[in-house]
Amino acid sequence: MKIHEYQAKAFLTQFGIPVPKGRIATTPGEAKKIAAELGNKVVIKGQVYAGGRGKAGGIKMANTPEEAQTRARELLGKRLVTRQTTPEGIPVSKVLVEEAINIRQELYLGLVIDRTNRLPVMMASEVGGMEIEEVAQLSPEKVLKVYIDPPTSFQSFQGRKLAYSMNLNPGEIRPAIELMGNLYQLFLAKDCSLAEINPLVITTEGKLLALDAKLNLDDSAIFRHRELKELYDWEQEHPVEARAAQLGVRNFVKLDGNIGCLVNGAGLMMSVIDLLTQMGGKAANFYDLGPGPISKDIVNAFKIIVADPGVKVILVDVFAGMGRGDAYAQGIVDGYREANCKLPVVAKIVGTNAEEGKRILAESGINYFEASDFYDEARKAVEMAGGFPGGKL
Ligand code: ADP
Ligand code: MG
Repeated sequence: MKIHEYQAKAFLTQFGIPVPKGRIATTPGEAKKIAAELGNKVVIKGQVYAGGRGKAGGIKMANTPEEAQTRARELLGKRLVTRQTTPEGIPVSKVLVEEAINIRQELYLGLVIDRTNRLPVMMASEVGGMEIEEVAQLSPEKVLKVYIDPPTSFQSFQGRKLAYSMNLNPGEIRPAIELMGNLYQLFLAKDCSLAEINPLVITTEGKLLALDAKLNLDDSAIFRHRELKELYDWEQEHPVEARAAQLGVRNFVKLDGNIGCLVNGAGLMMSVIDLLTQMGGKAANFYDLGPGPISKDIVNAFKIIVADPGVKVILVDVFAGMGRGDAYAQGIVDGYREANCKLPVVAKIVGTNAEEGKRILAESGINYFEASDFYDEARKAVEMAGGFPGGKL
């Protein structure tokens, strides 16, 4: 789960990591007021679930409170497109108004889980800022990594190693090591999958400050942090996915085609997407029904798929192993009725109680087309969606 920069900075502060003074504004007037309170120059930072804001015009300098108001007006209510967003961008409904810092150097500090080594890894670089991706790709030797063994925790010798690699002045080494240790404590305490400060800056006065902050929280551990769930900003999601998550439908990803898909098993779902594409069609979504026939989920998934005006046909592919074919079929019929659906449904059910399932669908009166196999279902769905099955399969 992502959170905004201003929320991440509040956590950094709690864990003793210094950040610039600043507050959040939702209107240009508020931005002006905050800028006046802060005095001096400020930076207006659009709050979106994506990086790359600096290069995309999402970070703006303002010399006066009036200018802060103008710059905030340019961002608020707009959509920001960065290299990390879709071409439609994501809405900016809040801006962080923060004191402008005189920067001597921009560094990089980040913590992630390295899945290959199954350990948290802390990464540091003396060349932080907006080009870190290029640095990591073109001169990987400029990014130093240390692996942290959870039982022994983060050790100061590891901090020294990273701090020296960042070319800090002697007086900055100790605060940097302390900051790294604090970041590790935060990473642990909030069950993060990513904790990144880019840039970590040294000010012209020689102070270390986290100018940006990105925390991703591990979704599988959110149950341990109910208060963190509250922080989630649904506006930042694709509206269809936001609705799916709010209805408790997990593993739903919006795609840009017109064939709505209800498939059990992520692998089967991926194969369906591939086959539809090969045949000249396009899936409208990824959705894994999961192994157990929970009819409430099917009903909710149906509602979400049907609410998408682009969807022309629904493809159901069920391999009933642990779940029963008849229960899946009943869920589909219930969903179809509750969602007031009129669309054609192409369905293939195999496995446990498949015959019973097919009978339920055939007798239900829904606009049902039986598919005999994997290729038949894809061909029919693509045809009904208005495409021309071009596959040679
Ligand atoms: P993003 O990573 O999304 O581009 P950042 O918060 O890292 O956004 O900001 C981009 C750049 O803007 C930073 O590398 C820094 O040079 C500048 N910047 C950000 N915040 C401030 C600030 N408070 N004072 C001065 N410069 C800033
Ligand atoms: Mg940044």
